[in-house]
Amino acid sequence: MKKDFTPTVLDLGPLQIYLARHFGFCYGVENAIEIAFRTVDENPGKRIFLLSEMIHNPQVNADLQAHGVQFLQTNYGNQLISFDELIPDDIVIIPAFGTTLELEKKLEDIGIQTEKFDTTCPFVEKVWNRSEQIAKKNYTIIIHGKPKHEETRATFSRAAFFAPSVVVKDMEQAIELGKYIKGEKPPSQFYEEFKGQHSEDFSVTKDLQRIGVVNQTTMLASDTQAIADHLKQMMIEKYKLSDQNAEERFADTRDTLCYATLENQQAVTGMLQTDADLAIVVGGYNSSNTSHLVELCEEKLPAYFISSEEKIISSKEILHYNFHTKQEILTSDFLPNKQPVKILITSGASCPDALVEGVINKLASFYKTSKTTEEIIDKFS
Ligand code: SF4
Repeated sequence: MKKDFTPTVLDLGPLQIYLARHFGFCYGVENAIEIAFRTVDENPGKRIFLLSEMIHNPQVNADLQAHGVQFLQTNYGNQLISFDELIPDDIVIIPAFGTTLELEKKLEDIGIQTEKFDTTCPFVEKVWNRSEQIAKKNYTIIIHGKPKHEETRATFSRAAFFAPSVVVKDMEQAIELGKYIKGEKPPSQFYEEFKGQHSEDFSVTKDLQRIGVVNQTTMLASDTQAIADHLKQMMIEKYKLSDQNAEERFADTRDTLCYATLENQQAVTGMLQTDADLAIVVGGYNSSNTSHLVELCEEKLPAYFISSEEKIISSKEILHYNFHTKQEILTSDFLPNKQPVKILITSGASCPDALVEGVINKLASFYKTSKTTEEIIDKFS
């Protein structure tokens, strides 16, 4: 059945909010948060650590810290608390994006049980399983992801355990990899170009003869698809294959996309059909899936990436994150001087719904609306 991705309209008179049909928390994040808080409740007196941020949302992480949970590492793998300080009785929670085999082993060597407090999302595990399956059929694994992102590092470590593996961060890198596949670039250049992104002993001549593409689940689905299509085409050209027999050298891995990421992205595409004035995307600034939603929006209209309603300073000013330059910037007169103002709103997979509600209420406070947001929302419950 074709899914409906038309946005939900909250008509407040002078302000019209078009809320994405799917937004916010996904199964994996809800599950991880629930396990983390349950662990805190059920283990009074124990030291509880998180390997790194639970999810990419500052409010959720601050809430966990307020309950006494400590972070062992930053998102980029820098140590905040030394592993030497851990004792077997400590609890270490593995976050939703999983962890590397190396770290898992390190914790096990200390005597810490990781399985009981592992909140790795089943959709991330699905990518790991798929990588293992294609590795067993002798395909090299190409991972489309951000090389430093925890999930990509975790997926890479598991893929590299089974087969030669390479991370490509974008289409530009995929095009360069394609040149190595076709023998258009000297293999010796590969090691500098893909430094830190390939498995040990990777052989450009031997390990690019059969490949399959998996992804960091929060990448743009359309980007992963385009990268997979390009690399498949390179294999077809190099080995004189056709679409029918391409699988001899290119594994079909289309089913590794996470449903939540995909639905949130499709809902944004649906919402962008509306002739709106601006878009607001709510989420943590280091959240990969949220920045992809912003990327989709900004192709069409002014898009503001904010972490909470507090970033809407007044009806005149908004403090928002430019994920290209990684800076927060202040924009004046972000609301057009017209009525009704039409605003598209969505949020990332790690953003609590309460933050979206806060943003809607803040916007509504700038207008003389005939109904309260509660009255409007009640209609949908
Ligand atoms: S975005 Fe997808 S893969 Fe990531 S935690 Fe959520 S459901 Fe799991």
